[in-house]
Order: sequence, then C-alpha cells, then structure tokens
Amino acid sequence: MRALSNVDVTDFVNAMRREVQDAWERVDQIALANQRKVLKAFHTHRISEYHFASGTGYGYNDAGRDALEAVYAQVFGAEAAFVRPLLASGTHAISACLFGLLRPGDELLSITGLPYDTMQQVIGLVGDNPSSLIKWGVNYRYLPLKDGKIDVNATIGAIRPETKVVAIQRSRGYSWRPSLSVGEIGAAIRAIKRAHPQVLVFVDNCYGEFAEEMEPCTVGADLVAGSLIKNPGAGLAPAGGYIVGRSDLVELAADAAVAPAIGMRVGAMFGLTRTMLQGLFLAPHTVAQAIKGAILLAKVMEELGYEVTPAWSEPRHDIVQAVRLGSPERLVAFCQAVQSAGPVDHYVLPEPGEMPGYKDYIVMAAGTFIQGASIELSADGPLRDPYIAYVQGGLTVEHCQIAAEAVVKALTSETDLP
Ligand SMILES: *Cc1c(COP(=O)(O)O)cnc(C)c1O
Repeated sequence: MRALSNVDVTDFVNAMRREVQDAWERVDQIALANQRKVLKAFHTHRISEYHFASGTGYGYNDAGRDALEAVYAQVFGAEAAFVRPLLASGTHAISACLFGLLRPGDELLSITGLPYDTMQQVIGLVGDNPSSLIKWGVNYRYLPLKDGKIDVNATIGAIRPETKVVAIQRSRGYSWRPSLSVGEIGAAIRAIKRAHPQVLVFVDNCYGEFAEEMEPCTVGADLVAGSLIKNPGAGLAPAGGYIVGRSDLVELAADAAVAPAIGMRVGAMFGLTRTMLQGLFLAPHTVAQAIKGAILLAKVMEELGYEVTPAWSEPRHDIVQAVRLGSPERLVAFCQAVQSAGPVDHYVLPEPGEMPGYKDYIVMAAGTFIQGASIELSADGPLRDPYIAYVQGGLTVEHCQIAAEAVVKALTSETDLP
C-alpha cells in the first residue's frame, strides 16, 4: 500500500471538483433566484436601520420584529410568520405547531415514515414523557414512504374524521431515504385537499429552506416550521426558530409556544433582529455553499467506493449528505476527520455518546461558532447499522473542500486512492 501524500489528496479532490462544475452551476442558479426573492421581500417591507433596534421587557410594538416576520412571511409564500430567538430549536418550533393545532381526540398522521428522532419523543412514540402529544390524548399514526415517495392513495384512504393534521418531513433527517422535492409535496397536498379539504397539512422544513426555488407554503402547506441555526439563519442567527403559514394557524402555534392570546404580540428580541435579517439575506448563498460542498463530498466518496445519498449528480431538496460507512470505526474516523478540519475545537476528538432527544448513541463532529449549528459544517451519525454519517452545512465551499481532504486522508490509509 502506497502512503498518501498531501499533494495526492489535494490533487484528487481538486480533480473531483472539476467534475462537479455543471452540478454546482445549477445550485448557483437556484441561489440567484432565491436571492432575488429575499431581496424583493426586504424592499417590499422597506427594511431600514431603525428596524435593527429592538425593545425590551414585553417587547410590545417592536417594529423590527414585525418587519422581520413580514419579510419571512413573504419569502416563504405565507400569510404570516412567527420568528423568534425564544424558539429554542427546530424541535421547539415544530412542537409548538403540533400542540397549537391538535386537541385531545384529534389525530396526527405522518405520511413520510417515522418522524425525526427528537419528534418521536414530542409525539410520545419513544420514552414515557408525561407531556407528549399522546399523553395529552392525541392519536398518532404514520405511513411509510413507498419507493421513496409519499403514498398519496394510502394517505387519502387513511384519513379519518378525527385526522386533523397530516405531517410531512421534507428532509431525510437521520434516515436513509430521499428528501422530498417541493413539487412532490405540492402534488400530495393538492390530492389530499381535493379528497379531504378540512385536513391541515404541516411541513417540517428543517434543512430544506432555499435548497429549491419554492417553499412548502407556495404549494399549499398550511403551517411550516424550521430552525434558525440551520439554513435560514445562515450561520449568523445565534439561536431561534420560525413558523410560517396561514395567519390563524401561526397564531395558534405562537400561543402554544408563549401563552394563549399573547404569542404574536410579545417577546423581546434581545438585539438580534439585525442578525436575523442579515442571516436571512445571506441564506440563499450560504445554503448554496453547503449544497456545493455536499455535492463535492458525494463525488469524492463515490469515487472511493462508498454508497451515498443523494448521488453527487442528483437534484437536491435539502442540505443533507448521507454517506454509508459500513462500520463503527469508519463512522467515527469520518466524524473525527470533519472535526479536525473545523475552525473551532479542531483538536477535540469526538467520541460516541448520549444526546438528549435521541435514542441511539450519536457521534457528532461540530467545530462550529454556534453550538449545534448544522448550517455550519457538521457530521453526525447514530451508532447503528449500517453506520451512516449525515453531513450537513458548510459556510464556505472552500472549507467543505478542505474537510473532504481530511476525510480522504482518514479513510484511504486502508483503501488507497482510486
Ligand atoms: C434538525 C431537525 C429537526 C429538529 O431540529 P433541532 O433544531 O435539532 O431541534 C426536526 N426535523 C428535521 C428534519 C431536522 O433536520
């Protein structure tokens, strides 16, 4: 076996970079369309320096907060938005939506398989938390994807009078399944609403924002939520979540998150309005950087003989790149390599451990400025067969390329370069 020099690895990854140029160009075009859309919303709402100041205490009459939410609503094609640093995470935003919409006796029907790990505890599928939806008397069922797609006919057949909310998860999350395009989500929503006009459709939009030119509300989703330390915060927002959709439903979710009757009207912004607006402004570009990094990594890993999803040449509907490593040692080595290329804590050696909200041991690489921010380059995987690393984020494509080199070095001492 030949020892790898740094030059070999740099040349190899650069060669892969040249091969993905057409795919990168398609990503840049999506970013351009999304940048126009975001800019137009800033212009419509006449964003100005006075919006950057924010109130204290109750946060009544916070013009900046109102403008931020108006901009979010327009960008996401929604009637209203609730965008707050007090939303602690994506899970909090999604949980507020579900507790806002569902009452005892109602049913929640997921139609994209088992939901994201942390949502399983919110719903009450794992653990025995007394505050889960199921403990509140909400009924829950789910339908698996069929050949990686929403099973629209099964959904229409499964909806009963008590089915209040149909839930769709756009991204793959921690599962080896395709992400869904907004086009496919829209086709499913149209068919569901034709057969059952009273049903509300909720979309978990985490990791999907700005990956395509359309967002779920544009194609009929009633309520949509996501995290600001993922795509729409662009690495600037230090915390927060967003909820967008029909105004009456956004208000229900805001009241569930805060308190009845005051959710939308109170809430200090702690001086974060400017950062959240600037993050949204940068998000189309930053998401494109992350997706271009994912395409390059996919190409590199495919070339080394690993199975990946999506393939480097496939269209993207989220920022997640899954790489099947096949052994716990390679999964941990992969994550350690990503960590070693990070700007923060590069010297830390990630080891598998327990994470609140997750049932398997997780190994996580996150050399990030903002704790847990997965719009920054991060890799993590549950320690379960077949040992898949889920890689997401990357504020610059250059950083993603350097991390790909570290991964190649970590894995090729046993396989050598192709
Ligand atoms: C990240 C994520 C969540 C939860 O978000 P957190 O901010 O980690 O709580 C929910 N669903 C999907 C698909 C996600 O990717």
